[in-house]
Amino acid sequence: ATVAQAIDLTKTYGDKDAVVTALDHVNVEFKRGQMTAIMGPSGSGKSTLMHCMAGLDTPTSGKVIVESLEVSSMSQKELTKLRREQIGFIFQSFNLVPTLTAEENILLPLQIAKKSIDRAWFDRVVDVVGLRSRLTHRPSQLSGGQQQRVACARALMARPSVVFADEPTGNLDSKSSSEVLGFLKSSVSQYGQTIVMVTHDPRAASYADRVLVLADGNVTRDMQHPSYDEIL
Ligand code: ADP
Ligand code: ADP
Repeated sequence: ATVAQAIDLTKTYGDKDAVVTALDHVNVEFKRGQMTAIMGPSGSGKSTLMHCMAGLDTPTSGKVIVESLEVSSMSQKELTKLRREQIGFIFQSFNLVPTLTAEENILLPLQIAKKSIDRAWFDRVVDVVGLRSRLTHRPSQLSGGQQQRVACARALMARPSVVFADEPTGNLDSKSSSEVLGFLKSSVSQYGQTIVMVTHDPRAASYADRVLVLADGNVTRDMQHPSYDEIL
């Protein structure tokens, strides 16, 4: 089943005199339970695609559909609800609240949304990311890899339909990168999480079921289970 879809998605920046086409009539579908990596050179439109898909940015034309809902025509209020309930986002820079513990960071979005906390689900997510012994630590007491695992757990707590991750391993060493990617991958295999991840790293992309390559705002390659050599 299709979880998220871009239809003829176009995004331009600037005015008549200096138009930048970040996305040029992009058509793409993301299927449930798949991990997709989006690659391509800097400036090819990867971040813009993710931001439009996640309702963080408004397309110039075309549509974004998430779980049969048309994101591209939603009001701000509807977008806030969508981002809280259907979408998880993981940033390169972790974006944790420094004064809160790991556990408080993981639960914060649910508390802001005034949602009840499913303790069994919390335990499962915490165990999968291997954070059990770090729950009372603040971000400054955690390694980069541990901080990103907290951010992953936070993104998964609301059981989102899809998680968008923008360079999730961009600030991590290779050991921490493998841990974070292994965890994201196990959320796909263990409970069918759908993940769309931007990455420059072919090794990170090799964890994905599918690799899309963007160039100048167009999808130029779309590979299912590519080998490492095909990604390079
Ligand atoms: P990538 O994530 O692949 O590096 P981006 O989506 O960030 O690419 O950018 C695609 C193009 O759109 C680039 O030419 C970039 O300079 C331009 N762009 C992105 N965001 C903005 C913005 N807020 N204002 C103007 N141009 C932008
Ligand atoms: P990355 O490729 O690592 O995601 P970018 O440098 O492309 O980072 O973009 C970082 C932020 O700056 C994004 O929010 C993007 O929309 C914005 N941005 C990118 N290019 C431009 C630009 N030419 N003018 C204004 N904002 C931009």
